Amino acid sequence: METITHNLIAVFIQILCFLYFIFPWNVIFTIIFAFISHIIVDDLSFITYHTPDFMKDDKFWLIWHYIIYALSLFSFVIFIIPYGLSLLFANIVDLWDWFILRPIQKKIKSKNPDSKWGDKYYFHQIVDWVRLKLFNWLPKRKYKKSGILIEISIIIVFSILLGMLNVTLVID
Ligand SMILES: [Zn+2]
Repeated sequence: METITHNLIAVFIQILCFLYFIFPWNVIFTIIFAFISHIIVDDLSFITYHTPDFMKDDKFWLIWHYIIYALSLFSFVIFIIPYGLSLLFANIVDLWDWFILRPIQKKIKSKNPDSKWGDKYYFHQIVDWVRLKLFNWLPKRKYKKSGILIEISIIIVFSILLGMLNVTLVID
């Protein structure tokens, strides 16, 4: 799913962990649950509009992604303090796979095209494994445009939940 969805759920997790656990468990559980949340949310992305490839010639794809990327960026800006911990660990799967491992692999492959180095270090392998074990029964709707409604609904639900938790932008 999209980064804003990951972020809202991450903030929700950190609030609950800091509400119910004392130090250092609040920090430890925030890290663990934020990490796990990424895996589960990604596993559910099959039921939302989530094309594996960029579809730059598709107007609908472009507009949706402009909006969702802007919202994602905005969610980082408003939540980074004081929810940076959960944001980091809810996104570390993507950060590692897309921004660290993939560029390194690209470099290695440019010298040695047959290199398989790094293939087994992708965090998204865990996502795929869990999907196979637990979520394989879900309908595959990655290319269905109506899938954005599911993502929008999740975003709205978690925004309301955060509102109800009276999300403050400071932890006390
Ligand atoms: Zn991911």
